Amino acid sequence: MAGWITTEVDGLMSALTGMVREPVIRLGVTGLSRAGKTVFITNLVANLLERGRMPQLSAATGGRIEAVYLQPQPDLTLPRFAYEDHLAAMTGDDPRWPQSTRAVSELRLSFRTRPLGWLAGMAGPRVLHVDIVDYPGEWLLDLSLLDQSFEDWSEGVLHRIAKRPEAAAFLALARAEDGALKLDEPRTQALAEAFTLYLMAAREAGWSDCTPGRFLLPGDLAGSPVLTFAPIPKPAGTPRGCLWTEMERRFEGYKAKVVRPFFRNHFAKIDRQIVLVDVLGAIHQGPRAVEDLRRTMAEVLGAFRPGRNGWLDLLLGGRRVEKILFAATKADHLHHTQHPKLTAIMEAMLRDARTRADFAGAETAAMAIAALRCTVEEEITRDGQVLEAVRGRLSDGRQVAMYAGELPSDPARLLAPAREGAERWLNADYDLMQFAPARTGRRHGEGPPHIRLDRAAEFLIGDQL
Ligand code: GDP
Repeated sequence: MAGWITTEVDGLMSALTGMVREPVIRLGVTGLSRAGKTVFITNLVANLLERGRMPQLSAATGGRIEAVYLQPQPDLTLPRFAYEDHLAAMTGDDPRWPQSTRAVSELRLSFRTRPLGWLAGMAGPRVLHVDIVDYPGEWLLDLSLLDQSFEDWSEGVLHRIAKRPEAAAFLALARAEDGALKLDEPRTQALAEAFTLYLMAAREAGWSDCTPGRFLLPGDLAGSPVLTFAPIPKPAGTPRGCLWTEMERRFEGYKAKVVRPFFRNHFAKIDRQIVLVDVLGAIHQGPRAVEDLRRTMAEVLGAFRPGRNGWLDLLLGGRRVEKILFAATKADHLHHTQHPKLTAIMEAMLRDARTRADFAGAETAAMAIAALRCTVEEEITRDGQVLEAVRGRLSDGRQVAMYAGELPSDPARLLAPAREGAERWLNADYDLMQFAPARTGRRHGEGPPHIRLDRAAEFLIGDQL
């Protein structure tokens, strides 16, 4: 028994000293669907493992990094980020895009570093673990549900969507329901399905208030009772077992079993965060998409704002993310001369949210990146004018040159018409192509090509290496 206790104590001590000696940074990666989270994590990891293309990561160029390796993650209940599969898809003989983020996942990357200079002789190598946590930005939208009862929420949603054409079919079903009647499971499922279809259509049409977030990205909860509810009119009486009471129970279940655990187990533990924003994609779609992205991002970033939600503030107990990087993704669609304009547009788009949140002292930065660079720069001549364009491969194998259009130097020229509800851009055309990952012969010691992943890594973890 005594021996067992000693072993346990030893184990605990070494775990404790291990914790002291081996710091862990939890790096959150988020953004709305298709923003580029999966590609970002995959290529960031590939380029941290092979650092030949990371000149701006000072620990790499300064020779402080001895080794980088993937390790089993500490959280045994979370899916592991499928790094190897994603990398194989992106860099195989027929390179293609990997499967996008559907739920939260994690990956642990460990760095063995050695101090340089006079410290080198005194201190041995040290190990830093970076736990990368990938989660859909849509899930942050659910924070607002925590303050609402089922009654408030139902009333609010039914009122807001009353005039939306996308909601017509769902509203007809919901209004025909008598919430006082006993719950009938197939009908409840039909209601929840109609509501989910409405949410999908609403998202397509550019509405940003598309919660509950898991209805759009259910992960492994698809079909479970916590996702089988919908807003309905409150009946005069609510006897036990009636539709209303059961829906209310499921709504509360969604908050308690889905929303709170996500914030408690994942969000609250993040030390550093990157928020990916597909600004170019929205500009290409037009003013409505830009305005929708602006509103949705303001809502998403609200989760980082102290005082936004009492429960979350209590949970965080004053703890906040230390650094937040905002990255405009897919910048390889533009010639590098336009990258500063893209960054400026993203900064202007997020300005309201950023100043309101102030992020409680977190250090923030913004940059344009391409997690996987698929293009090379090229000058083309169109109507006698020389344009700074890019060239890439389409999924059918054809190589094409593309000029995305000239972004304005003043972001207001895009953001103002978007806010005013313009239907299309005046005097400007923005083009985008769906490039496939390039076929690149990789040299030993180099990861796949990217734009500014090294700068992003320097900002996010460079100070700890
Ligand atoms: P997620 O939903 O945030 O995980 O998004 P993904 O990482 O799956 O990216 C969505 C899509 O955006 C990909 O399938 C690509 O088509 C495109 N994409 C992402 N990153 C890049 C990039 O760096 N360059 C280009 N050209 N396209 C990208």
